[in-house]
Amino acid sequence: MAKFSLFSDTSRRIAEADSVAVIGLGRFGSALAEELMSSGTEVLGIDRDEDLVQSFNGVLTQVVRGDSTKEEVLRQLAVDQFDRVVVAIGHDVQASILTASLLLQLKVPIIWAKAENEQHGRILEQLGVHHVIYPERTMGRRVAHLVRGAALDYLEIERGYSLAKITAPSSVRGIPLGQTAIRQKHGITVAAVASGRAGWHNADNSTVLSEGDRILIVGPTVSVEAFAQLR
Ligand code: ATP
Repeated sequence: MAKFSLFSDTSRRIAEADSVAVIGLGRFGSALAEELMSSGTEVLGIDRDEDLVQSFNGVLTQVVRGDSTKEEVLRQLAVDQFDRVVVAIGHDVQASILTASLLLQLKVPIIWAKAENEQHGRILEQLGVHHVIYPERTMGRRVAHLVRGAALDYLEIERGYSLAKITAPSSVRGIPLGQTAIRQKHGITVAAVASGRAGWHNADNSTVLSEGDRILIVGPTVSVEAFAQLR
């Protein structure tokens, strides 16, 4: 365990900043860790695979080889000092569950864990993991909506309620949004607009849409889907 003490001071320092510990640097964990880094969050990455750890050296704030199913490893790496920890282990369900239960025991305030399937997710939820994520299922659903309809991008915020980026259909162009009765007729709200190369801005009742404008719409999934089909 001596080797970890070399890291623990740095880990403690990272834990004090805007930081997240990511356990498991597979495709999901590494993408998440790199995105956090690029948005200014410090990341402690932990993986049991030496080659993987080497390859993230210098990419993340700190990256350490360790087995997260061992309590002493988590303590030595000061993982218990982090207020947000992501368990990005999917394939090895046992390691994921053991790690999550240790983190709960260590009273980490916010734990996110990736679930491989429904059964895995249920166990994580029953343990008390605060946020269980299903990347394959979520991505599959999202792509299904993109494949089916005219949406340029799509996000299901919660089951049954969605946000989509679409091209403004002709029926709502040319007059102020407030006069289109879009909410009454279609059950959706236009939240933002982007015209040409101009960036996004919030939409309001006086916003007039033109051909080619991209809009962000929110509403019940069925309404968002139906509206996205309009031309
Ligand atoms: P992805 O789809 O994100 O690549 P996966 O579910 O296919 O992930 P897993 O086998 O679940 O892959 O592991 C993701 C990472 O977690 C791997 O790099 C693996 O080395 C690491 N990992 C698995 N178990 C542990 C553990 N007990 N301690 C630390 N790291 C672990």
